[in-house]
Amino acid sequence: MGGTDGVTDGVMDGVMDGVMGVDLQQPRQLQQVLHRHDFHFKKKLGQNFLINSGVLDAIVAAAGLIATDGVFEIGPGAGTVTRRLAQRAKKVLAVEKDGSLQPVLQEVLAGVSNVQVHFGDVLEEDLAGMWRTFSDCTGVAIVANLPYYVTTPILFHLLDSGVPFHTAVVMVQKEVADRLTAPPGGKEYGALTVAVQYRARVEKVLQVSRGSFTPAPNVESTVVRLRPYPTPPVSVKDEQVLFAVVRAAFATRRKTLLNSLAVGMGVKKEDAAKALATACIQSQRRGETLSLEEFAVLANAWEPQRATRD
Ligand code: SAM
Repeated sequence: MGGTDGVTDGVMDGVMDGVMGVDLQQPRQLQQVLHRHDFHFKKKLGQNFLINSGVLDAIVAAAGLIATDGVFEIGPGAGTVTRRLAQRAKKVLAVEKDGSLQPVLQEVLAGVSNVQVHFGDVLEEDLAGMWRTFSDCTGVAIVANLPYYVTTPILFHLLDSGVPFHTAVVMVQKEVADRLTAPPGGKEYGALTVAVQYRARVEKVLQVSRGSFTPAPNVESTVVRLRPYPTPPVSVKDEQVLFAVVRAAFATRRKTLLNSLAVGMGVKKEDAAKALATACIQSQRRGETLSLEEFAVLANAWEPQRATRD
């Protein structure tokens, strides 16, 4: 990432000294700042800004920051969370898609010297390059009040990028939180659950009501915390096979595992049956009853020649 140090094109540091004059815990003051800069909320960017001080405190506390930590924030909005993070961490690097928030953030972050804001789409950023900003930090936490329309792609972008972080605290739609933390067997348990729980320990931190945001969203929200595993909790020979098996198992929920796997993996039924037998998993079970451990055993029993129907 070029130019996160200094005020360059598309990039803004928290500059200037002096006291922070805006109290964003006061919704009226936030409205006034937004109004002053003629800012209009964009629904398509999932812009619902936090105005509940208790929720802000809970998010910052959940990140478990120490003074030498860096924070990567996605979607700082008006900088409400950003400012609190800056008080607790060594530095904050925030990525915001909406360039029209630049003057708002400039005002809100005036006097805060350890924040850099980069304007861009986090999904298109080279995260490994951005992480160089944190080379003098002892650890990195991610904090995001995520735009709900891109929650899942952003989560996987973070988890698959390989960038090291000790904690991610993310606000997601309640239903997504239910799916991320679901145990096997229920209707919330799905491919997303298994894919995320393979990579990180996930827990709910806090339920957040609609009234905690301006404008109020149409859905309830939940703050979740993810702590990536140094090594996955189950051992698989080939992760691609694991994810293919998981996707196939959940693609057709009404079907038995045998049928789902045969269709989803594009193999003959007898080959799917052999893999299930090797894994000691009954072929009449449904995909949503399998634990992560069972999916791993099944993936390891999957032989390469069964990957395609001959
Ligand atoms: N953090 C602020 C808060 O809590 O008040 C704002 C949260 S708001 C739910 C989501 C923010 O993410 C918005 O500022 C929006 O413009 C920004 N955003 C949306 N899509 C984005 C993307 N792909 N990359 C970076 N920021 C994005």
